[in-house]
Amino acid sequence: MYPVPSYPVKKGSIIDSHAHYNDHRFDDCREELLSKMYDLGVSKIINCGCDFESIEEVLDLSDKYDFCFSAVGWHPENVNEDEFDFARLDRIIKENKKIVAVGETGLDYNWRQDNKDRQKAAFHTQLDIAAANNLPVIIHDRDAHADTLEILKQHTPKGVVHCFSGSVEMAREVVKMGMYVGIGGVLTFKNGRVLKEVAADIPLERILLETDAPYLSPEPFRGKLNHSALIIYVAEKLAEIKGVSVAEVISVTAKNTEELFGI
Ligand SMILES: [Zn+2]
Repeated sequence: MYPVPSYPVKKGSIIDSHAHYNDHRFDDCREELLSKMYDLGVSKIINCGCDFESIEEVLDLSDKYDFCFSAVGWHPENVNEDEFDFARLDRIIKENKKIVAVGETGLDYNWRQDNKDRQKAAFHTQLDIAAANNLPVIIHDRDAHADTLEILKQHTPKGVVHCFSGSVEMAREVVKMGMYVGIGGVLTFKNGRVLKEVAADIPLERILLETDAPYLSPEPFRGKLNHSALIIYVAEKLAEIKGVSVAEVISVTAKNTEELFGI
């Protein structure tokens, strides 16, 4: 089952800018959890599809639930030797009004370093598709900060670097490009020192809150099933770092998310 926050949250005030409710870990509680989201404090959720199978699943969720929106892309971990049908991705984007971003796309050198060129090519193509459809992008960058930044500088997209794991200097560059920094449960981890420095350094107006659910549950639920209502613990930590109220963190980051994705 899923953990329930003990922190009082205003109903329907939190936006989760990055989740995967299609994940099989939600199979025995997905409907119950999503039906309770508003009461648990959550108003909108963006689910990210990472290949054609999960894209179908997140589109089903945004068909079924008013408050669910979709991002669609080819995750770098799925960039294998098979061909990817980018024309099909483009058609899906044009056919579905609840698709609000291209992603996840980006680079993951933690997963593989032997196919960097392939990962980069897929990233470039998806940035082009996003631009052609006037959509923002949701970027996955793991152990690939320099190449990610270099490619972003070439395309200057609207978007967010999700689950940000770069340095303060990189966060400043991202903000300078007019992009956002996605922050989730890692902010509450004891070993999340660099992310805390990033959060302290960049303006709240450039931060989006996210879960990456079912992964990366914040403390005190680290290791358990993550879901959007647990964002309150990330907001609480961010409020402490910024010296502002939790309510302000939630409302400013929700506004940022609404503006970026037009939701
Ligand atoms: Zn994700």
